[in-house]
Amino acid sequence: MTEKLQAPRGTYDVLPEDFAARTALEAKAREVLGAAGYERIETPALEQTEVFARGVGASTDIVQKEMYTFDEGSESLTLRPEGTAPVCRAYVEHGMHKLAQPVKLWYLGAYFRRERPQAGRYRQFWQVGVEALGSDEPAVDAEVVVLLVTLLGEMGVEATLRLSSLGTPATRAAYRDELQAYLRANSDRLSAEVRERIDLNPLRAFDADHPGTREVMAGAPKLLDRLDASDREHFDEVRRLLDVAGVRYVVDPTLVRGLDYYTRTVFEVTSEQLGAQSGVGGGGRYDGLVEELGGPPTPGMGWAAGIERILLAGGRAPGAAAPVDLYVALGMGETEFALAHEARRAGLRAQLDLGGRSMKGALKQANRLGARYVAWVDGAGVQLRDMESGEQREVPRDEVVRNVLRGPGL
Ligand code: ATP
Ligand code: MG
Repeated sequence: MTEKLQAPRGTYDVLPEDFAARTALEAKAREVLGAAGYERIETPALEQTEVFARGVGASTDIVQKEMYTFDEGSESLTLRPEGTAPVCRAYVEHGMHKLAQPVKLWYLGAYFRRERPQAGRYRQFWQVGVEALGSDEPAVDAEVVVLLVTLLGEMGVEATLRLSSLGTPATRAAYRDELQAYLRANSDRLSAEVRERIDLNPLRAFDADHPGTREVMAGAPKLLDRLDASDREHFDEVRRLLDVAGVRYVVDPTLVRGLDYYTRTVFEVTSEQLGAQSGVGGGGRYDGLVEELGGPPTPGMGWAAGIERILLAGGRAPGAAAPVDLYVALGMGETEFALAHEARRAGLRAQLDLGGRSMKGALKQANRLGARYVAWVDGAGVQLRDMESGEQREVPRDEVVRNVLRGPGL
């Protein structure tokens, strides 16, 4: 016997019964984001590897170990692990800096990371995201954050918002030196993993679970205390606007995002309704990214949230499947086929019994589908049954659709 074929590790099939909840989320995203003037964009699942090497940062976990990369001729391509860098690449490629700014975009699609699969963590997962490009106003930061909080609220996710600011690259560079010096001075108390990454990514030390490291980090200098005046002012204004919107947040000076491109505002949303993988979404400002990808200097701000985790946390009961107006039973002949076709052209939801069921079986199936009417050909006429009342009568063939459209009753 040959080996059983399965979906690859860390991936899953989205089955018909899963779509009600996913469609509801997509509709909600379109409603919430569309109402604020964000327009949908979709970039390819594949990008030149350079987009992520430059756009996400060579020292990040994503680029170092999580990307699916392969050669195509002389090109190196990568399955997109995130959406911000591709959207910025598209912004540059299509000259969107010539449009009215900021350009406000949203997306929903599949992303790929080579991770250890576990509950809420997949190798192919879906994200919904937002990017606002071309304005460095604090109002943009606040609006973008509020949109995520609103969408999550609408989806029934109870979330905690953590917020911080990373300042400018210059502030960060100076702070990085200061933090590295501090970590080196205390290196004997750090975990081996953190010690090895002092040069590469010292900020990650704030994320460590190791007790000794945590003690050291409790006394570490905080970036938030090193912001220059304009970044401080920007952060204060973002906070003030969130207060105006009635959005609750916690300022967390140790917040570290897994991507290199962030400047100023960063934020993360977690939910207690999830287990170990508590991150629902996150994002921030990336004022240098578009330029890094070859475009004009362009500030940007955005977020991405995981669809699986939103659905897991929200636990929304999937909506009812689309009801059926007319179920055509007992036969797949020309008359039945034409009847179902005609009903659909008239705007009805019509299903033809393609299972060769008996009368009893057909009525059972029609019941299961919640069909309003069942019809079957009977000599020159058609028997039409109102499933609600149980009433049944013979109607002329060309009056069936009109009768169903007019319903209820016969
Ligand atoms: P985590 O800390 O869980 O690894 P992350 O910081 O890598 O998350 P981001 O890059 O900020 O995540 O992506 C935004 C959101 O996308 C996350 O908050 C999460 O909901 C979702 N996400 C990220 N990676 C995965 C994955 N492998 N499987 C499912 N969802 C994911
Ligand atoms: Mg991750």
